[in-house]
Amino acid sequence: MALDRFGRTIRYLRISLTDRCNLRCIYCMPEDMTFRPRDELMQDEEIFTLVRVFASLGFEKIRLTGGEPTVRANVVEIVRRIASTPGIREVTMTTNGILLPRLARPLAEAGLRRVNISLDTLNPVKFRRLTRWGDLEDVLEGIQAAEEAGLTPVKINAVIVRGYNEEDVVDLARLTLDHPWQVRFIEMMPFAGVTEVQLRLAVRVPEMMARIEAALGPLIPVNGGRLDGEARVYRLPEAQGTVGFIATLSQPFCASCTRARLTADGHLRMCLLREYEVDLLTPLRQGASEEDLRRLILEAVWAKPWGHGLYEGDIPLNRTMSQIGG
Ligand code: SAM
Ligand code: SF4
Repeated sequence: MALDRFGRTIRYLRISLTDRCNLRCIYCMPEDMTFRPRDELMQDEEIFTLVRVFASLGFEKIRLTGGEPTVRANVVEIVRRIASTPGIREVTMTTNGILLPRLARPLAEAGLRRVNISLDTLNPVKFRRLTRWGDLEDVLEGIQAAEEAGLTPVKINAVIVRGYNEEDVVDLARLTLDHPWQVRFIEMMPFAGVTEVQLRLAVRVPEMMARIEAALGPLIPVNGGRLDGEARVYRLPEAQGTVGFIATLSQPFCASCTRARLTADGHLRMCLLREYEVDLLTPLRQGASEEDLRRLILEAVWAKPWGHGLYEGDIPLNRTMSQIGG
């Protein structure tokens, strides 16, 4: 069992399959982003070895992310192998949805359970502005494909950016009236690459909630206001779906964080918002045994930071969001 020094049991690993992406969202990476050479990224067999080691330590939930995980060659086979690893109970994915019309069904057949799809606005012009070159229609088709393939309940992730989509929270929340989705609004966080935009244009959850309530009525807490993962969840009157808020800054959830992240270049990162990482790929390539890797992982878990340091101005600048795996 992987336990940190604050008593949190860590069972949930997000694996970034690639730092590449078919979009360039303005809150995630610069337009002229350069990507790592492929040989610096974990190869398929290296991912499977590490997943086996994590599973032997009690990790049971895996979320695949990136970059855009669906642009990774072999993604269906990767899902199949991870989902069939003894001890792994659930494999999910965070994706921009663009390739789901082609991939949703094979991914579901390979053992993928659910998807979170990023969608920040229902306005095609604003969508293009936020993603720099995305086509909204592709994502809408991706959501439909995910539902048809049974990758449900679908969760929609929306990052809110001042001057780009803060008014769109109402239309996005309205989706939950007729769809059994969870639409989750995310406070923008600062990393490397586009730090100035991330700091200057962030919108806080209380403002998002006020806009939604003014237009659509009261947000009624679900689960007695308890967290669902990192989101606080509400329901609009008569709605089929729910609305979630991920308030990293206005209501931090560090105390209940049981996540770890494995970057595409094989570094174990114990807090999204702290630079602390332990390299697992280099020792693996140098012949470390599974026992050696287990020891490295347990040491990293033990050293998991209590929480982020954004209030003290401690911004993680060693990677962009896309390089960490959100
Ligand atoms: N490409 C996939 C996608 O967009 O869903 C997966 C990777 S993306 C880095 C994972 C999540 O992080 C997405 O929901 C995205 O909206 C979110 N994200 C990206 N940059 C962010 C930032 N600066 N602050 C908060 N969330 C961010
Ligand atoms: Fe790509 Fe996702 Fe980052 Fe957008 S948020 S640029 S889709 S990795």
